[in-house]
Amino acid sequence: MTLRDNIHRLVRPHMTRRPDGTHATVDPLLSQLAAAVHTSRGGRRDSNETPLPVNAAAMDLWAALDTQARAEELDRTGTARGTLGAIITRWETETRPTTVAHLEHVTLDIIDQITSLLDPPPKRRPLRKPCPACDQTWVLNSDGDRVSALTAGTHDAEGAMLPPSEYDVACSACDAVWTGQELTWLLQVIADTRAEDIMQAS
Ligand SMILES: [Zn+2]
Repeated sequence: MTLRDNIHRLVRPHMTRRPDGTHATVDPLLSQLAAAVHTSRGGRRDSNETPLPVNAAAMDLWAALDTQARAEELDRTGTARGTLGAIITRWETETRPTTVAHLEHVTLDIIDQITSLLDPPPKRRPLRKPCPACDQTWVLNSDGDRVSALTAGTHDAEGAMLPPSEYDVACSACDAVWTGQELTWLLQVIADTRAEDIMQAS
């Protein structure tokens, strides 16, 4: 994706491919994020918290992106006037190759942050056992909460349950991953309970 492509997805209606293979026009990602501020869905839809009238995660992300884009624009031009969308749109006129490459990276990162908030990856099942590779049981997530280092992927990107043979177990402390036949070994190592008990624990 070029800088121009990235900006297009952020600030203009654009085509996207749906799971059934057809294409549809969707709102600019910035508009989708702005709309998400006033919904209770988004990154917190799987939690048990009472939905808030304002999506705090979406509002925080908007504020962070606004701050980041303004800092980039100050570096680039010495001023940072206008809305977040206006600033990003002006990046289309940049011609210096190193700045274009930098902004391409910045805009792709913005896209990734918005899409993962709007459409969070399926939750992974925490195993709460020491990792056989690094011996860590817990890690801190981006919110500073202690979470299980070892997690099992039991659902695909569309949220459908996978057959157990396609599960994976990954450690977020050391990045080790086990799949397929390795899972049998892994589950024996980390547990004194039966494999299916671990996979069902949550
Ligand atoms: Zn590990």
